[in-house]
Amino acid sequence: MNSSAEVPRPVRQEALYATDEITELAPGVLRTQLPIDLPGLGHVNMYVLEDERGVTVVDPGMPGHESFVALKARLRAIGVPLKRVHSVLVTHSHPDHYGGAGRLRKEVGAEIIAHRRFRLWWDPCEPPDIDVEDVPLVKSPMRVDGKTPWGGRGYDIPWSRRTRMRMHARFPKVFGVPHPSRRIDEGDRVMMGGREWLAYHTPGHTEDHLCLLDPDSGLLISGDHVLPTITPHISGMSYAADPLHGFFASLDKVADLGTQLKLALPAHGAPFTNVVERVEHIKLHHIERLDKLRQIGADFDRPATVMDIAKHLFSARAQGPMADSETFAHLEHLRLAGEFDRRERDGYLEYVRVS
Ligand SMILES: [Zn+2]
Ligand SMILES: [Zn+2]
Repeated sequence: MNSSAEVPRPVRQEALYATDEITELAPGVLRTQLPIDLPGLGHVNMYVLEDERGVTVVDPGMPGHESFVALKARLRAIGVPLKRVHSVLVTHSHPDHYGGAGRLRKEVGAEIIAHRRFRLWWDPCEPPDIDVEDVPLVKSPMRVDGKTPWGGRGYDIPWSRRTRMRMHARFPKVFGVPHPSRRIDEGDRVMMGGREWLAYHTPGHTEDHLCLLDPDSGLLISGDHVLPTITPHISGMSYAADPLHGFFASLDKVADLGTQLKLALPAHGAPFTNVVERVEHIKLHHIERLDKLRQIGADFDRPATVMDIAKHLFSARAQGPMADSETFAHLEHLRLAGEFDRRERDGYLEYVRVS
């Protein structure tokens, strides 16, 4: 591979390492950062919302001791003892967002607030049929053995982590796996930091993603739904049959808030004001990707696997399970729109453009 020909990419703000900087964004609304080490991400923002009872923390970092030590250090720097944390808001069911929630509940009895559909995919304590919405859900998008619905190589989960996940799944109480004590939905009102926030269900990045708006100040907790410089990953490992369709609708939902929006508080990167512009940009990115997929489909003269198609859709440096997963989500979007057909062969799904 000729890597010297590749142009170095600028470092995205979402990839910057966590600092111990604390920023007050509005009265009683503080941004802190916790360390994470995930593809393209170097920190997660933990927002701390203060009221007379104590604080609510939003997205308390990764599971594990190291992150919890950092969480306690940030609260100490603000002058908040751990026992003052009365609530945890988790924007969605990714580990960099729910990590400290179970331990905060166990140690100080904090309320865990998440969307009604919040579910860890490997957790047998959360039944898959908890929702009553008429969005078609597929059963098990991923298994601990890493197999994918399209037949490709899944995420390469190291043996030690896989074992830990199995242990967590068998003994959820012992390991402090977060179970929301309050499940909320579209239109619900939540008091946090002395403000009344309005909940918006924004599926796409995950099926249980939440954004929250404080209509008085125009602050929007945007989680991973709208990020400042990167487009959130749309996974084919979803409980929804067409996660991209859900994502487009969720982007429109935020754009429709229009001039109400003053400042987005993303889970990664710095808060930003051009929220509607960012939403349009992210939408355009996926529209362009769908167009490219139509072109690739027209160029192929035979049915192709998700991995074959991903090689043409993504750059060489982006290849891997995440690219395959996102390609699958886009292909399913076009298949459900009648533009592609699919068949199964030797355990692999193959797609062909409908001419
Ligand atoms: Zn996420
Ligand atoms: Zn995230």
